[in-house]
Amino acid sequence: MLSIKNLEAGYGQVKVLHNISIDVPKGKVITLIGSNGAGKTTTMRAVSGMIKPTHGEITLDGKRIDALPSHRIARLGLAHSPEGRRVFATMSVEDNLILGAFPRYTGSRSKGDVKGDLEKAMELFPRLKERRTQQAGTLSGGEQQMLAMARAIMLNPEVVLLDEPSMGLAPILVEEVFNIIGRLKSEGVTMLLVEQFAAAALNVADYGYVLENGKISVHGPADKLKTDPAVKAAYLGGG
Ligand code: ATP
Repeated sequence: MLSIKNLEAGYGQVKVLHNISIDVPKGKVITLIGSNGAGKTTTMRAVSGMIKPTHGEITLDGKRIDALPSHRIARLGLAHSPEGRRVFATMSVEDNLILGAFPRYTGSRSKGDVKGDLEKAMELFPRLKERRTQQAGTLSGGEQQMLAMARAIMLNPEVVLLDEPSMGLAPILVEEVFNIIGRLKSEGVTMLLVEQFAAAALNVADYGYVLENGKISVHGPADKLKTDPAVKAAYLGGG
């Protein structure tokens, strides 16, 4: 579905990613773990066209996307829920969600049932349903994070990039976010998940990649990575 081959990318003269290859098959959840500054967010940005790769190939459903601008990539069905709380602050929760569906009206994919998907998103995120008419900027940080995730889902995406969806959330909300990821997975949504909670990410994922200093150091089925001594020591709190 999404395939990243020999990707190199960075900022100006600074190369951050070195020859990264990641495969995200249809219907699977793939996680990318790594310490701060390893290049996880940079990988997500390169895939969604926010930065241009200096080398390599990214394909979505067999189509090259690495030279396309972000809005064209979104039209092809790639949704990016970015790190941090990027919501349209002065708009209501509902309008934020409707905007998430906007690329469905401009691309060549079928528009589908936007109204139905809006109701589904509200079901999935009951906290957003309760706050449907509230200005997004007045939501709590955790609620804004959920809104960013729900907005990504409103694209009815082929693939969703989730960049640290649990960042800064209270433990109960972290659990809720992972439950939602589990539900999306059971509905067949394809995801590339970056997470600080490596153990929880490996529990929900089918396959994982470990990024160290801009290079993939280990990859394998999530169950295998969970028991890999080096991965355990570095990312799963030892033991
Ligand atoms: P974290 O978990 O801390 O978010 P990460 O793995 O997502 O880390 P990135 O955000 O991809 O890491 O950052 C990788 C490297 O790129 C870091 O050294 C960072 O300082 C650098 N970097 C990130 N954004 C920019 C930018 N806009 N301009 C210059 N350098 C940047």
